[in-house]
Amino acid sequence: MAKKKGASRKPSRQQGSGIRLAIWITVAVVALLVLITIISLIQQSQDKKPVAFDDPPSVEGQPIMGDPNAPVTVVEFGDYKCPSCKYWDINLLPKLKADYIDTGKVRYVFINVPFQGEESVLAALASEAVLAEHPEAFWDYHHALFAAQPVDNRPWVTTDKLLELADEVGIDRDKLAQSLMAQGTQEAVQADNALHNAYRIQYTPTIMVDNLMLPDPFDYEAIRAAIEERLGASE
Ligand code: CA
Repeated sequence: MAKKKGASRKPSRQQGSGIRLAIWITVAVVALLVLITIISLIQQSQDKKPVAFDDPPSVEGQPIMGDPNAPVTVVEFGDYKCPSCKYWDINLLPKLKADYIDTGKVRYVFINVPFQGEESVLAALASEAVLAEHPEAFWDYHHALFAAQPVDNRPWVTTDKLLELADEVGIDRDKLAQSLMAQGTQEAVQADNALHNAYRIQYTPTIMVDNLMLPDPFDYEAIRAAIEERLGASE
């Protein structure tokens, strides 16, 4: 049936509060799911031990935060679409930065693991383009990507969003747009894929301290202990 001409298209007050309630329920459910994922990762990891690989991952061509010649390397295998990686970026990286990166003891490296489909790949391509064209702005863009990830992780990685974030961190949006159109950083993303396959990454974030893969990315004390052990060995 056609709508009466001139009838209001605005939702009624009752519909409006129903929509708000639905949004709040969605946000609460997603927040709960993130919490359950983190708790289950911690529980799964409690019985597991760190895995020592023969060699640490190559960091050639990767973004490095801190002194490139720092004695210890911490690698995060992560995904911009991953809520637990956003949690890590906000809650654990600042501690690592203050304790070890800013003091020149650790260099920190991020390697893409685009586990969550096309959006993950698009965000990875954009981050690699920023690294190639504006390496000085890479970490600002990296944090802006995580900050832009909505709490309910609904679809959010679009070319427009990625260009908007370029504006936010003061870099050339046209260059980024061209790179995204041409998929100019596909090789860099493929190189990251080869690395996470070689290290058999099962979940994100995965944290490595030199050649040691830690079972619980959220156990900062274990990360600290592994770094201290390496620092002691390098003295
Ligand atoms: Ca990379």
